[in-house]
Amino acid sequence: MNEKRVALVTGAGRGIGATIALTLAKENTDIAVVDYAAEESAKETMETLAACGVTARYYACDVSDFSATKTVVEQIVKDFGKIDILVNNAGITADKLLMRMDESDWDRVLNINLKGCFNMIKHVTPHMMRKRYGRIVSISSVVGLMGNAGQANYAASKAGIIGLTKTVAKEFGARNITANAVAPGFIKTAMTDALTEEQKQAMYKLIPLGALGETQDIANAVKFLVSDDARYITGVVLKVDGGMYI
Ligand code: NAP
Repeated sequence: MNEKRVALVTGAGRGIGATIALTLAKENTDIAVVDYAAEESAKETMETLAACGVTARYYACDVSDFSATKTVVEQIVKDFGKIDILVNNAGITADKLLMRMDESDWDRVLNINLKGCFNMIKHVTPHMMRKRYGRIVSISSVVGLMGNAGQANYAASKAGIIGLTKTVAKEFGARNITANAVAPGFIKTAMTDALTEEQKQAMYKLIPLGALGETQDIANAVKFLVSDDARYITGVVLKVDGGMYI
């Protein structure tokens, strides 16, 4: 596609989402950042995006809120004229063994991680269909493929993203809309900074490449999946995990 593209990236205020937004901006893509907190918390990300010479705007929105996501998508289409790329990256954890996990832990994680993807896809796809063009990438996790003790809610949400992605690929393929998932392993972010050195050492033993991944490793996978080089790829789950789950 030669025309300048517009990407909506959720959870792009920080972490993996911020690196994805920056990487797409460097590809001359305008960016709509959709994040939960007030814009002030994403100040650094927004300044870096602006320095790339693209249009970047911030929208505060809870992705788990169906009507709020409808409103925000309409506003983004009004501001940018279209949405070519949707990256569903916003996600949280609330880890506990199932015995201790209560209903609110389950609902919160499923609502943000999985329903959040449904909400965005539901509201963005009518605009993509009109243009007969769309690239959707949702951030799953290797935990969604392999399971993980203490993460029943998170693993279920990330496995759900894979089923959702494959279905969207089938339903929208005829409209030139692709849908793929990226499944990161352990990546250096606030999420993994919280681990103890002992936990990290135990983790390295599980990873053939022997190290945690960088947010850029995930952004590179997203950049590929939304590029013209990936035009014939849809419904895949691309693991970016240093070989942790083979
Ligand atoms: P992070 O640093 O915690 O960032 C998550 C982002 O999502 C934050 O900007 C957060 O906003 C936003 N967010 C949270 N709840 C939201 C909501 N309800 N509506 C809108 N935005 C919301 O996490 P990360 O490590 O970059 O992870 C990004 C994605 O990769 C997640 O889906 C995660 O599950 C997945 N992942 C991460 C790893 C890893 O090792 N880090 C591994 C596998 C998969 P606030 O700043 O306002 O909280």
